Amino acid sequence: MRGIEVVWLSQTDLTNLNAGEGEANFIDIKKYKKNGVEYPYVSGQAMRYYFKEAIRRNLDGEYMCVPNDKGETCGNIKDCIGCDLFGFMTTIKKGTVIPGYPQGHPGGAMTRVSPVKVSPAMGLLPFEENAVVDFLTRRHRMEKGEMRGDIVNVEIGVNLYKCGIAIDVARVGGEEKVNEKTRSVEIEYYADTDTRKKRVSKVIEVLRYLSDYSKQARLLTDFTPDVILIAFQDVYSHRLQKALALNNGGLDLERLEAVINDVKEYSPKIIAGILPGVVENENKVRNKLEELGVKVKSTNEAIKEALNYLNKQEL
Ligand SMILES: [Zn+2]
Repeated sequence: MRGIEVVWLSQTDLTNLNAGEGEANFIDIKKYKKNGVEYPYVSGQAMRYYFKEAIRRNLDGEYMCVPNDKGETCGNIKDCIGCDLFGFMTTIKKGTVIPGYPQGHPGGAMTRVSPVKVSPAMGLLPFEENAVVDFLTRRHRMEKGEMRGDIVNVEIGVNLYKCGIAIDVARVGGEEKVNEKTRSVEIEYYADTDTRKKRVSKVIEVLRYLSDYSKQARLLTDFTPDVILIAFQDVYSHRLQKALALNNGGLDLERLEAVINDVKEYSPKIIAGILPGVVENENKVRNKLEELGVKVKSTNEAIKEALNYLNKQEL
């Protein structure tokens, strides 16, 4: 297995997951434009943060470092699940013994490309038709005990977001190294197969538990998958990300079929999960997927099946 791809839709109630630049008393929502129409989105950086925090909440004895005041992490991919899965740009002190430098690092900058790639979450419904400006007051007590309140306007909206991740499985637990003799690139592993598998599993597992979004004190939001496709691939690719598109309020079945048929050529296993009542043509989507040989389950069953399948694979 070279890669695992996941693409999903998540429907939200009124929320503001990712604020834009805004002004002092106005909290807007990040938006992109398509053909002149605005749609909300959640940045890839915010999505990565949700994953990291969900993994941190669900650690099972693994070590995961906390970034220092400069945002730099430990850089030890052998011991640290966070640095291994999400990469880093960090400064290593001279003499530090870390994977790849058994005699001590010469000191200086060190980077690792993240084996877990995360897409921005793209709102699929126009912003204007699905949003409202809410007033909230920031109340604070003055010296003599009187209450004052500043009015703050917050944009909040409902939407259906498309999100995705791709895991470069071959690079989890390892780093590319040039073999000087053959002048070719090889991956040197610092973590054993079981550890690597457990780390990859963690990314899939926490899809069900993502919850560390901003502004949750007032806007409790579930942003976990409602319609999900998971592919275990013999080739590392990002193709599955295009499988879910809207067409007249429902999922585009032609698009779904074309992308699944494409990805199926190099994916021994594709799993689907659907939460009832999220897409309008749900029954047609179920039938189409079954017709394409993809079993449709509930979202939680789909994720559990993916974990089971992963557990039985050789990495
Ligand atoms: Zn670390």
